[in-house]
Amino acid sequence: MKTNVWRINDIQRYLEGKGYPEGITKAQKRNLRAQAQSAFKIENGKLLHKTHSGKKTDHGKGKASFPDWVRVITNRKKQIQLIKIAHKGTDDSVEAASLSAHRGVNTTIDLLARRSWWWNMTTDVKSYIKTCDTCQKVSINEQLAP
Ligand SMILES: [Zn+2]
Repeated sequence: MKTNVWRINDIQRYLEGKGYPEGITKAQKRNLRAQAQSAFKIENGKLLHKTHSGKKTDHGKGKASFPDWVRVITNRKKQIQLIKIAHKGTDDSVEAASLSAHRGVNTTIDLLARRSWWWNMTTDVKSYIKTCDTCQKVSINEQLAP
């Protein structure tokens, strides 16, 4: 069992005062406690994650600033939905229909990270974009171009 990656469930239960998962060692308890307290909190029954960006403003570039805390998303369908929106824009927007609306990995993660967090979000975004039909067609066309 890895000591540095806890299930969100375990972190939430700990923060709700429901104790530790069964059968873990003292060191693991310490590790869970440290992670839960340093990066998570519960507000109105919702689990929040601290953004580690630390940059609240973007030096006047006009970008929206990061909130200190963002929602932890554990539902798989919801995660995919959020990636999709960050990558393509909302389904009914005009932008969504155009290729230029397909954002790259970094921009997609940046947009996503402003509002939500989950383990492996970066990996999920990368693999989502890798399997995006439209993006694949674009890169194939680029490769074929003389
Ligand atoms: Zn795409």
